[in-house]
Amino acid sequence: MLIDYTHRNGHRELIEIPTPADVLEQIRTNPDLWPKPTVEQPDDETIAAMLYDSEDLEATDGCTLHEPDGICQHCHVAWPRYLTTPRPKPRPRQKERP
Ligand SMILES: [Zn+2]
Repeated sequence: MLIDYTHRNGHRELIEIPTPADVLEQIRTNPDLWPKPTVEQPDDETIAAMLYDSEDLEATDGCTLHEPDGICQHCHVAWPRYLTTPRPKPRPRQKERP
């Protein structure tokens, strides 16, 4: 989204700012940015059911999604997608020095 911004010195400039939809789209397509689940992972049966019936999928924060590759407004994706997409392993914590 372009906004017409006027600086304090009177200089006008068109500035491109990302809309919430742009941000969500960026997150949706980048597993590195997916937030950690905030609800407990459903059991395998429930997840399998989501794969076959993609009408109602549970997002990793408990929201309901209607597309297998959708994302909710809180940036969480559906469990099947979350679980089947390879994500970078979290870096091992550095040992604290005594
Ligand atoms: Zn949500």
